[in-house]
Amino acid sequence: MDRIFTSIRACHNLSDSPRACRDCGRPATKDALFDVGNGIAVVERYCDQCAKAIESSNRSSV
Ligand SMILES: [Zn+2]
Repeated sequence: MDRIFTSIRACHNLSDSPRACRDCGRPATKDALFDVGNGIAVVERYCDQCAKAIESSNRSSV
């Protein structure tokens, strides 16, 4: 299923158990929001650098 990148936001769930960046495994500091259709959004955690890479790559592909 295609996921459409929506936005990056700061991760505020610091009380939860720490999550690793989906790409590189370092501690995640950002939430990346994706629209998967039917009004459903998913959040995946990324570190600062990977979040920037996702954001810039999605912008440049438009
Ligand atoms: Zn990362």
